[in-house]
Amino acid sequence: ARNKAASDFLFFTEPMADRLHEKMAMERDLRRALENGEFELYYQPQIRLYDRQVIGMEALIRWRHPEKGMVPPSLFIPVAEQTGMIIPINEWVIRTACLQTKQLLDRFPHLSVSVNLSPYEFESRRFVDKLAGLLADTGLPPHHLDLEITERMTMDTERALDILSNLKALGVTISMDDFGTGYSSLSYLTDLPIDRLKIDRSFVQHIQGKKDVILPSIIRLGHNIGVKVLAEGVETETEAAYLQGKRCDEAQGYYFSPPLPYDEFVRFLKEQHAR
Ligand code: C2E
Ligand code: CA
Ligand code: CA
Ligand code: CA
Repeated sequence: ARNKAASDFLFFTEPMADRLHEKMAMERDLRRALENGEFELYYQPQIRLYDRQVIGMEALIRWRHPEKGMVPPSLFIPVAEQTGMIIPINEWVIRTACLQTKQLLDRFPHLSVSVNLSPYEFESRRFVDKLAGLLADTGLPPHHLDLEITERMTMDTERALDILSNLKALGVTISMDDFGTGYSSLSYLTDLPIDRLKIDRSFVQHIQGKKDVILPSIIRLGHNIGVKVLAEGVETETEAAYLQGKRCDEAQGYYFSPPLPYDEFVRFLKEQHAR
């Protein structure tokens, strides 16, 4: 009762405490969600532009909250990162993505699944061992797993180089997510063992024939350093055709498909295959 009185007092006088309280409630909620199996992975296809084949998919987490319904990742990933809950959550994401992808390889042997890493876990070299364990446990051949990192995770280039080379040694591939939105210098790009740039959606929006120098430059930059380039957030055929014309390798976006629950994603793959 004393605790309650204290927190009520803080609630009315100090908004910070209110947020802290909310954060603790959210942490409990996230822990319960993980235990009760409230998380689910959706998959968004990644398309090779020249022949429009599905070459992989990005795993995106969803939270089916018993009272609040679907909670988008933008509402809980930041809290998960602040509370450390992102570690067990992302472990679940990677394990699930590996298991579900492995089930698809018989029928679709070239698929690769991308998962999003968070800065928090990227800090520690223990992550390399954990990932090795997850790959061994699930039996997914490592070259079918792609890790999406962001520019802000590579601010400390030395550290990033160390962790990335150890991850690459496991046989996985690395994609630089949201490329173009970070603030790090470009020189790090040639130093890091990256396989693909994912151009942020903001560069792809409204390309509708407008004279654009940024997109073609990023695509050329990627090719000059010997990596693949994927454009995110492609919503129209105009955008897809434009990117294809600029020799962009791959694309992802609502035009091809929104993120889909596993079963629907499998149906999508079968339909594409039958065409
Ligand atoms: P992201 O990694 O940049 O993921 C792409 C986001 O763009 C997804 O939002 C996707 O649904 C959305 N999107 C895809 N195509 C289009 C399009 O054509 N138009 C528009 N307007 N949006 C499109 P989502 O699923 O809400 O995820 C948001 C962010 O949450 C992700 O951004 C990622 O940073 C984070 N996230 C999602 N799942 C995970 C996860 O399992 N672990 C971690 N650490 N972060 C995750
Ligand atoms: Ca991503
Ligand atoms: Ca992205
Ligand atoms: Ca993003």
